[in-house]
Amino acid sequence: MKGTFRLLKYDNIPVFIHWSFGLIFVWVFYNGYKHSLGWDQIIFLSALLLALFACVTLHEFGHALMAKRFGINTKDIVLSPIGGIARLDSIPSDPSQEFKIAIAGPMVNVGIAAVLSPYFLFFPFSNFMVFFGKINFDYQPSLLEIFIPGLIGMNLILAVFNMLPAFPMDGGRVFRALLSTKLSRLLATRIATIVGQIFAVAITFYGFYNGNIITAFVGIFIFVAASQEFRHVKFESKIAKYKVRDLIRYEYSTFLPSATLMEVKEKLNHGLENRFLVIDEENILRGVIHEEFILDKDHIDKLDSAIEPMISENFTYLSQDDNLNDVYKLMTTQGFYLLPVKENEKIIGVIDSKMLNDFLHKLK
Ligand SMILES: [Zn+2]
Repeated sequence: MKGTFRLLKYDNIPVFIHWSFGLIFVWVFYNGYKHSLGWDQIIFLSALLLALFACVTLHEFGHALMAKRFGINTKDIVLSPIGGIARLDSIPSDPSQEFKIAIAGPMVNVGIAAVLSPYFLFFPFSNFMVFFGKINFDYQPSLLEIFIPGLIGMNLILAVFNMLPAFPMDGGRVFRALLSTKLSRLLATRIATIVGQIFAVAITFYGFYNGNIITAFVGIFIFVAASQEFRHVKFESKIAKYKVRDLIRYEYSTFLPSATLMEVKEKLNHGLENRFLVIDEENILRGVIHEEFILDKDHIDKLDSAIEPMISENFTYLSQDDNLNDVYKLMTTQGFYLLPVKENEKIIGVIDSKMLNDFLHKLK
């Protein structure tokens, strides 16, 4: 993503941070100057914010690792001043899976708060209230002493805020998942989007009214994200009406693994296809040879060599009854460009990404 740099990587999920994240510290220093805070207070606030964003990161990993249990990968996690986003490859259409993935994030924050709560066995509970501006005159805790209660408070706020039924925030996803058990996914999404946008407007006004620009931005962001996601679901429900049999191409060229690169190049230059199935003498599909490999400048002196080492073994079989939405997801998440369609153990045709994209484009 533009304007971000990589912070760390866990379980193959990279965490990126957006440059605007630095603005948080500008904000801390500005306020420190404005309210003539001491260095100790400025360091305290900065440390608390860093700890908060560590908790946001853990929250996002909650979503990502739960998604992984359902076989859904996460491209990355991006942190910005308005929060974190785990970019999942797809959102499951099974309501119970969506429910579990959505609730896993806020549960991480509840868990962190619970783990930190033994603090109150050693310190007075009034330290917690200091964080909310309630001063206890009998006992003045030090900054260090209110760090943990501050973190507990912020984790609880994070959990509650994310559980607002403001789709596509976590609470909104939970809400949609619950609706989807009774209604169609499209209708459930429509209702969740309307409720989400009402909340988004309320959050935006609340933010502006209280002079809290970040909150106002979060509201605007939710509003836009809700309508985007609704459009996406509407689009998906449109594609899902079509099956592989509606798009399958019966005519396709194949090559033997022993064919030379030159032969394949000829076919590429003088035909309409740009990727080919490679099938061996025993009639077994070995893989696909892609345009990128055929035209690769490094292969220019290999025109007389067999294509065997250039075959990509990254493919899977489709059946005529697979719906096109699943094929689209497969192609976009697994990097497939040409897929064979099998019926009764025989390849009867293919679907390639260009055909599919053209088809979807007409549908939009
Ligand atoms: Zn979340």
